[in-house]
Amino acid sequence: MSADLRQPAWVERTTASVDGTATTRLVFIFRAIGCAWARRPERGCTNCGFLSLTTRGAPVPFEDLIAQFESVFADSDAIAGIGEIDIFNSGSFFSEEEIPAAVREHVFDRLGTTAALRVLVESRPEHLREDRVRDAVARVGANRLEIGIGLESSDDRVREALVHKGFSREEFERAVAVLGATGARLLAYVLLKPLGLTEQQAVDDAVASSRYVFEVARRSGVAARVALQPTFVAPGSVLEEHFRRSAYTPPSLWSVLDAARRIHAMGELSIGASDEGLEPARAPAGCPRCTEKLRAAIRDYNQTRDLSRLELACACRG
Ligand SMILES: [Zn+2]
Repeated sequence: MSADLRQPAWVERTTASVDGTATTRLVFIFRAIGCAWARRPERGCTNCGFLSLTTRGAPVPFEDLIAQFESVFADSDAIAGIGEIDIFNSGSFFSEEEIPAAVREHVFDRLGTTAALRVLVESRPEHLREDRVRDAVARVGANRLEIGIGLESSDDRVREALVHKGFSREEFERAVAVLGATGARLLAYVLLKPLGLTEQQAVDDAVASSRYVFEVARRSGVAARVALQPTFVAPGSVLEEHFRRSAYTPPSLWSVLDAARRIHAMGELSIGASDEGLEPARAPAGCPRCTEKLRAAIRDYNQTRDLSRLELACACRG
């Protein structure tokens, strides 16, 4: 790998909605060692292709991680007007093997001085220790720090046997309780159509999983949103091997709309809308006449939270 370790893996500015306000979202992805779960010989989650953004297990020196961050955040003009800042490391931001504590503290101290309404990082539940999260909230500010957890499904068979996630509902609930105790917010990723589910089973599973997320969050007094993630076929994933054998197809965008309509009333919902620049067969789609309309409707919904934006029709729907 010849990537410059002093430059981030990815930086992108997109539109977003935070607490009903249209704003700009800055996505920053560290080039880092990557998810320890994904690097095990058993290969982590079946849908994951994030290792391509990492050094695949080669440690990145502390100074280089800081340089990556400063290449964007040292310039306060470059982050003026940004409402949401997402800091990703293709793994767990609260794992000290993946992101050293001193880097984490530097990042949160800096983000605490910005005007962003929301700061998002991601972590598997086992790394969400109360002392670490409490420290992060103190640096960033209560009600601003949001922690993304990839629950994927509340069904043990789907999460364990199909996605191969490697954590239990108990561990998820413990992590959500930590967010409640510390004043952090929850973003729970729910996967739509993991390997091994039919289209209808996938919709039902995403709806049930979202209901579970909002119930667990309510019990712990946590502000929560669900990110519905329509599965795409990532290069290098286990899923890709099934896709190549014609044993897997991504969900229909109509299933995404079906699930979204049923989840909408439960609480705040965002819908994953990126096609990741992949060849069309690897991403959720409708038919040639409606795919672009459906994608635009999903982007509109994410901006407005207006369910009527998802009321569409097409002859392919039957
Ligand atoms: Zn169509």
